[in-house]
Amino acid sequence: MTYFQYFDTVSYIYSYKYDTKTEFESNCAIAEDVLSYYHKLFDIYYEYEGVTNLCTINKNAGKEALTVDRELIVFLEYCKELYELTGGKMNPMLGSVLRIWHDARTLATENPSQAALPALSVLEEADRHTDFGLLEIDESKCTVRISDPAASIDVGAVAKGYAVEMAARALEEKGITSYVFNVGGNIRIIGTKPDGDGWVTGIKDPKNPDYSYSMYLKISDTACVTSGVYERFFTVNGNRYHHIIDPDTLMPADYFDSVTILTEHSGLADALSTALFCMSYADGKALIEAIPGVEAVWIFGDGSTEKSSGVTPFDYNNKK
Ligand code: ADP
Ligand code: MG
Repeated sequence: MTYFQYFDTVSYIYSYKYDTKTEFESNCAIAEDVLSYYHKLFDIYYEYEGVTNLCTINKNAGKEALTVDRELIVFLEYCKELYELTGGKMNPMLGSVLRIWHDARTLATENPSQAALPALSVLEEADRHTDFGLLEIDESKCTVRISDPAASIDVGAVAKGYAVEMAARALEEKGITSYVFNVGGNIRIIGTKPDGDGWVTGIKDPKNPDYSYSMYLKISDTACVTSGVYERFFTVNGNRYHHIIDPDTLMPADYFDSVTILTEHSGLADALSTALFCMSYADGKALIEAIPGVEAVWIFGDGSTEKSSGVTPFDYNNKK
């Protein structure tokens, strides 16, 4: 197993195969190069030598178009598809609104006595700059521009999953199987265990995320991504405010305690977990059932659960 740190979370890769140490290390190095590349490309807080990343693009909002790596164009086009697929519930151009929540959370964490909610009027003003059309992607010129100086991009809802997908594919292209990526809870499994069996994972109990699980699943050849209330939050007057913002209310979405998505593409899983977290169970279920190869598990505030038609919980005690 190898540990590393990208996207602000502890992550690891491990293999079920009996690779030699050298093989394992060389495979991990390939994956880490990919993760590190996308980590830099998607960062909205820091710029890095030799790369035009989202931070640079945000700083340049309202100014000229910037030439970027082709990888970023491909990714942003994919974001557009996801935005449309989710009816705008996963909106990477929500940056101006997300920044206000981010600042409130930072202040509350550093200085709990000053913890306060952002004013709705401030959020509404920011929301006037969240139209996806403000992001101008020119495929042929390989350039990107944000046309409104007050708008900004934030791909936190999909970045980790997409980067993990790219890393997993780099290994798959080499014919590698039986590897597991866990990048801050973003799980992506390549193949099965060497004996052909699936891999058992647990969906955390949102009320007790460090110690217990609400459901177990046996999975292979898939991604498994959860968005939950317990991941990042701050507290004001005893109420918790987490980090997934419903674009329609501009407030933390409060339909569920968590939503888990299972599908092959870990970027799709990540985007859908955030999007479904921001829509009712009925809307989310209709969306999931309309996309082939996608399954979901919803956990409600009272601890009850729902699952889409293709999900079979694994019975840990009877090992079935
Ligand atoms: P995590 O990254 O913590 O596992 P998510 O995948 O659900 O959780 O992504 C949450 C992040 O996505 C937030 O920190 C924020 O940057 C961004 N975000 C929050 N709400 C939305 C939304 N409705 N649409 C797009 N991005 C969002
Ligand atoms: Mg997500």
